[in-house]
Amino acid sequence: MTTRNMEDYLETIWNLQHKKGYVKAKDIAERLEVSRPSVSGMIKKLSENSYILYEKYGGIVFTEKGKKLAQEIKRRHSLLVEFLKIIGVSEENAQTDACKLEHDVSPETITSLLGFVDFISLLPESSKWKENFQEYLKKSLLERSSNKKKNYKEKYWGRENKKI
Ligand code: MN
Repeated sequence: MTTRNMEDYLETIWNLQHKKGYVKAKDIAERLEVSRPSVSGMIKKLSENSYILYEKYGGIVFTEKGKKLAQEIKRRHSLLVEFLKIIGVSEENAQTDACKLEHDVSPETITSLLGFVDFISLLPESSKWKENFQEYLKKSLLERSSNKKKNYKEKYWGRENKKI
């Protein structure tokens, strides 16, 4: 079982590797804003658990096991970013919040989110689902009365429930 902290390190190592091509302890410390001894401690732990290989004067590389887990973390991250952006969260907040959420969501929620994001992408261009929702978000935050909701319902879906 990995801890949240371990996952943060694995994700950071993955990002550094893809950005710079190599990974040094110093860069991890800078990126995560933690002390060098903390990084050393975690590097040791990750090596002991066979997630990475570390050579003192070389760099850090993933083992197959580590690579698999890092990819899984990145996959969760991208999915959460995509979902948050669909519901209108800005890129910046989506990135930050995805990193907070990605460790704590259950596999069930991930599966449902994946399905949801896919489902939304299958809607026809004409659905205007996102635009309507954005408009609703902006206005409804100030007007949460049931009467107003009824007006929105009629405006967007018609009197009968039209398909999205
Ligand atoms: Mn992340």
